[in-house]
Amino acid sequence: MDQAGSRSRWTRHGVLGFAFVAPFLTLCLAETHLLLALAPLVVSHVLFLYATFIPNCQWLGPVVRSFATTEPEIWLTIDDGPSPVHTIAILDLLGRFEARATFFVVGLQAEKNPHLVTEILARGHEVANHTHSHPSGSFWAAGPVRTSAEIDRCAEHLRTRGDRPARFFRAPVGLRNLFLHPELERRGLALIGWSVRGLDTIRRDPAQVAAKILGRVRPGAIIVLHEGHRIESDPEFNPRCIEATLSGLAAKGYRCVIPQPEQLRPQRAGK
Ligand SMILES: [Zn+2]
Repeated sequence: MDQAGSRSRWTRHGVLGFAFVAPFLTLCLAETHLLLALAPLVVSHVLFLYATFIPNCQWLGPVVRSFATTEPEIWLTIDDGPSPVHTIAILDLLGRFEARATFFVVGLQAEKNPHLVTEILARGHEVANHTHSHPSGSFWAAGPVRTSAEIDRCAEHLRTRGDRPARFFRAPVGLRNLFLHPELERRGLALIGWSVRGLDTIRRDPAQVAAKILGRVRPGAIIVLHEGHRIESDPEFNPRCIEATLSGLAAKGYRCVIPQPEQLRPQRAGK
């Protein structure tokens, strides 16, 4: 990750530096070439929007998209819990398939359900930071103070096991902001993206969710699924997606493991 980290740092400085210089270029060109003068502003906005809104884009800093392994292993990650409706059922499923998973936990949910965080850890799984309030519509525009608060307030509710604080962070819906990477670096947190997602927040059929994942899975892939969604309309949906995925992975001979930090890589699984 070191080489990728320094490359991302330079790219981030380049995007920020150009955004800073662009208005001056526009002012200089405005008197003689009005249309041409708009080009630096347009380009700097496009660069910024691309870096921010394309999930797993490495321009603002390294985003982990796979882990190094020669075994048929994948990393199952489950976002947005803990959920009083789903977490125990999901833990039972994981136990049945002898699978380990990382739960990317929302601080507010952990605060309401501390016993579920304890139970996740007690059953040999891992918890990770998914912000305190999961501000999916506004995190991309958050400043440094709010970004830090979202990370730190969530972390407070994950300190149920003193020997190992959470090591991983995932941004809400994968959208980062300009200040996130330096804040994560300061706290020793790795930003985790994904290799494969089943779009279980959009699709309606657990079999389709599992099929999309199973069609793209490779050794070292990071899979994203969710809990705590559709509690009213279809409370069985999230566990069924996870069950179908675990069943398909087992049929293909994959084991679900939690990788070590030194295995994490920015490139996609299979590359
Ligand atoms: Zn989420």
